[in-house]
Amino acid sequence: MNIPFRNFIAYIYSCYLIFSGKLKTIQKKCANGEMILSVYFHNPSKKLFNQCVKWFIDNKYNFISTEELRKIISEKRTFPKSAVVFTVDDGWKENKENIFSITQKYDIPITLFASTQTIETKGQFWWTIIAKSRKDILKNKKVENLKTVPNVVRMQKVNQAVKGLINESDAMTIDELIELSRNGNIYIGSHTVTHPILPMCNNHEAWNEILQSKLTLQNWLNRSVNQFAYPNGDFTARECELLKKAGYSIAFTTNPIYIDKSNPIDLFQIPRFGVVDNISFTENLCRMTGIWYQRKKYKK
Ligand SMILES: [Zn+2]
Repeated sequence: MNIPFRNFIAYIYSCYLIFSGKLKTIQKKCANGEMILSVYFHNPSKKLFNQCVKWFIDNKYNFISTEELRKIISEKRTFPKSAVVFTVDDGWKENKENIFSITQKYDIPITLFASTQTIETKGQFWWTIIAKSRKDILKNKKVENLKTVPNVVRMQKVNQAVKGLINESDAMTIDELIELSRNGNIYIGSHTVTHPILPMCNNHEAWNEILQSKLTLQNWLNRSVNQFAYPNGDFTARECELLKKAGYSIAFTTNPIYIDKSNPIDLFQIPRFGVVDNISFTENLCRMTGIWYQRKKYKK
């Protein structure tokens, strides 16, 4: 299906979801403090990010930090009414203007999960390297295929693909990250060193990705880094254990479900709803409020 057509059909479906009353039901549950919305971004346009922020402000949501969320869960506190937590993954260079200028304007807390190697080397994220090089070296290798192979194989392919590519950095610089971290409302967490698919790493690789990214960030920022987001949302029980061993206190997945007070919440498996960069705001509204993913009906 071509992309504009797919987006149009998804837009119509999203309008149906909204007007069918699903959004209102969720709004009511959030307003009653029954659930907290957890939303993550990658590299949205300024317009899309601003629309998302404005929607939550206009609907009287309270933005809470990931640290507040951790305390609410670990201390079993009452859920705040209409609460939402914002996070952003990877460390894209455009984030500074498109995301953080807006969170600063509205005084909104947000946590950035940074993948350290791309920032350190002023390089490109591995999936953009593969996407750019697909036409020649890796004709039939799609990014998705490389998420299912052993880590060492993925790295070989990426190293092969990077040859001959012009290196236009995808990521923000270390100085930019340090500058952002000085803002009291911007928290920095780890998103590994090389953004691997952790369950495809051997024990040594997984431990190194989890620990070294924490140490590097702590060295750059001169503060402790205790929060983590799983690259691509992939993890197993091993990753949860390694994170605890490395001294992390909370970890975010990409499991699109609500943080619901009536369900047990694992601090190392915090769910998040993803905002997709290149789709309509209406579809993203359905995604970030979770109604896009609802299969069974919530009782009104
Ligand atoms: Zn990521």
